[in-house]
Amino acid sequence: MLENLLPLLKSTFGFTAFRGVQDQVLTRVMERQNTLAVMPTGAGKSLCYQLPAIASDGTVVVISPLIALMHDQLRSAEAVGIRAATLTSADDNRAETIARLKAGELDLLYAAPERASGEHFRNLLEQTRISLFAIDEAHCVSEWGHDFRPDYRLLRPLLDHFADVPRLALTATADKHTRDDILVQLGIEQDGLIIAGFDRPNIRYSISPRKGLTRQIADLVERLSGPGIIYAPTRNATEKLADQIAKTGRSARAYHAGLPPEVRQRNQADFVASEDMVMVATIAFGMGIDKPDVRFVAHAGLPKSIEAYYQETGRAGRDGDPAEAHMFWGAEDFAKARQRLTEVDEQRLNSERTRLAALGGLVEAAGCRRAILLKHFGEEPPQSCGNCDNCLNAPITRNVTELARKFLSAVYRTGQSFGVGHLEAVLTGRQEDKVLSRGHDQLSVFDIVDTEEAPLIKPVSRSLLLRDALRNTEHGGLMFGPEARAILKGEAEVAIVEPPKRERKKRRSGSS
Ligand code: ADP
Ligand code: ZN
Repeated sequence: MLENLLPLLKSTFGFTAFRGVQDQVLTRVMERQNTLAVMPTGAGKSLCYQLPAIASDGTVVVISPLIALMHDQLRSAEAVGIRAATLTSADDNRAETIARLKAGELDLLYAAPERASGEHFRNLLEQTRISLFAIDEAHCVSEWGHDFRPDYRLLRPLLDHFADVPRLALTATADKHTRDDILVQLGIEQDGLIIAGFDRPNIRYSISPRKGLTRQIADLVERLSGPGIIYAPTRNATEKLADQIAKTGRSARAYHAGLPPEVRQRNQADFVASEDMVMVATIAFGMGIDKPDVRFVAHAGLPKSIEAYYQETGRAGRDGDPAEAHMFWGAEDFAKARQRLTEVDEQRLNSERTRLAALGGLVEAAGCRRAILLKHFGEEPPQSCGNCDNCLNAPITRNVTELARKFLSAVYRTGQSFGVGHLEAVLTGRQEDKVLSRGHDQLSVFDIVDTEEAPLIKPVSRSLLLRDALRNTEHGGLMFGPEARAILKGEAEVAIVEPPKRERKKRRSGSS
């Protein structure tokens, strides 16, 4: 059946084959079955409704949450000759669009959910031949998703009113809860779920601690050619880094929400057209940008979550050629993120904490980064991928389970309220006032860590915090987190990456 679409795929889009699950999704759509397609960014979701839009009689109605996104999509649809229009409050050609729609002259119509759910829109669609409802960013319909939009809940009556028009929901958000909820909310059968693999094998992941970021970025930019994106945490940082890169002779621009719209647009257009420009941007940059040949994405600070990291690094190498993702993180990023947690609603606190701990697990991992990412999205990947920093160059790790147990015991015995400094004093048997005055020299954990192990106490406590075996109390002390139990019971091991010893000195003597 899909063979019939191949000539159209070639003549309209210039592609010779379907990619990934596109053929599965399109088969269902062409058979007029309801479908939820979970496909990562860059997998080619738009094609799944654009192709049916030109292949079938009638109009495909696309529900999309953001006007800016819609206009981007409109431009790319029109660029390949699809007859498309948007119907939003920002359009002043609404009368014309409505006339084209009624005359059957539109392949694609983009509308926002709040408009789509109105009486007026329903009447309009009744006078139109509709071939498909495509619901983009479908996770917005679920409260489990990270971006719930109540307007999406109003779509269901519209969909049910046109019960014989098939539905295609699309999202890049993968977790199971959200998927199940989307199916229920949009009335799509369980067997209509199609999930694309999340692996992006051509992206090489590397994650390292920040040590002289300017130098690290300069090295990266010098080594890697082709267009690249560097995500920086603040507007100020984007401009500073862009300046520094520009000074090395590589073309570089900054992009953030504080720049005048015309500057932003120009920088974005220049980047899209360029072959070796570096865009230093806040996360405001990237959504809806169609540039398949981005060769690297770097993070100058910790991303918001594993999902965000995956999404942002996913902008590299969409053409399938080798690409790199680099993250430079610092312990202070985690401190700041934890600080932000204190402002989070009680309700969301747990899931936000889990998100942060998962991110901690990724950056501190000694094993395959890709395996961690894919497991996070519910896949069962092989243990090593051969194309990430840890697979290519295994870090030296040290098993510190015994020390971690001692540390946790000390946290427990002292009442789960002291900070790492005090715990270290107790564990190493320092006869200090604060220890003696509390009688902590009488505890069984007093003086059980020898001088050889003592320097590992701080890294171990950090690692326990990252994996949620420890949490900070309100007053800066440490208390148990949910992962503590398994370690104490001997069910989980703790290993830390051995910091490279005196690397600096070696380098200095080497260069002299
Ligand atoms: P998504 O919306 O899933 O993030 P897009 O629809 O923007 O992804 O597509 C990502 C890129 O992949 C675009 O550059 C698109 O032109 C390209 N693409 C989509 N389908 C194919 C295909 N079958 N063959 C080659 N390239 C494709
Ligand atoms: Zn790997």
